[in-house]
Amino acid sequence: MGNFNVKIISIGHITHDVLQIFTEKPQKFGFIPGQATEISINKDGWQNEKRPFTFTSLPNDDYLQFTIKTYPLHKGVTNELLQLKKNDE
Ligand SMILES: Cc1cc2nc3c(=O)[nH]c(=O)nc-3n(C[C@H](O)[C@H](O)[C@H](O)COP(=O)(O)OP(=O)(O)OC[C@H]3O[C@@H](n4cnc5c(N)ncnc54)[C@H](O)[C@@H]3O)c2cc1C
Repeated sequence: MGNFNVKIISIGHITHDVLQIFTEKPQKFGFIPGQATEISINKDGWQNEKRPFTFTSLPNDDYLQFTIKTYPLHKGVTNELLQLKKNDE
């Protein structure tokens, strides 16, 4: 599978430390329920910091969804996700 840039459609908290993120879905992009992908943030210094997350949308949905517990103390990718907003990639 290749690399894709996708924009955030919406991002919000479902608990104090868990984010729900909806993104665009690339054309003809397929996955199996339960499958994970590696995500990085398209922002200076973060493009190569990949972390695995499981798709929480369904294969036929026209968006991708991720449900992500954040670890602000790690100063890693999940902490950086807390800064993101709509249209970030
Ligand atoms: C196949 C797979 C699918 C996953 N799917 C999801 C998902 O859908 N949603 C989700 O929220 N998470 C998921 N995870 C976990 C997620 O990848 C990590 O939470 C994420 O990588 C943390 O990144 P970070 O840069 O914020 O933290 P980093 O500090 O980079 O942490 C990297 C790894 O080290 C572990 N770690 C670091 N410090 C500690 C500590 N003090 N105590 C315990 N563990 C520590 C983290 O759990 C993490 O796995 C998945 C992991 C795998 C392997």
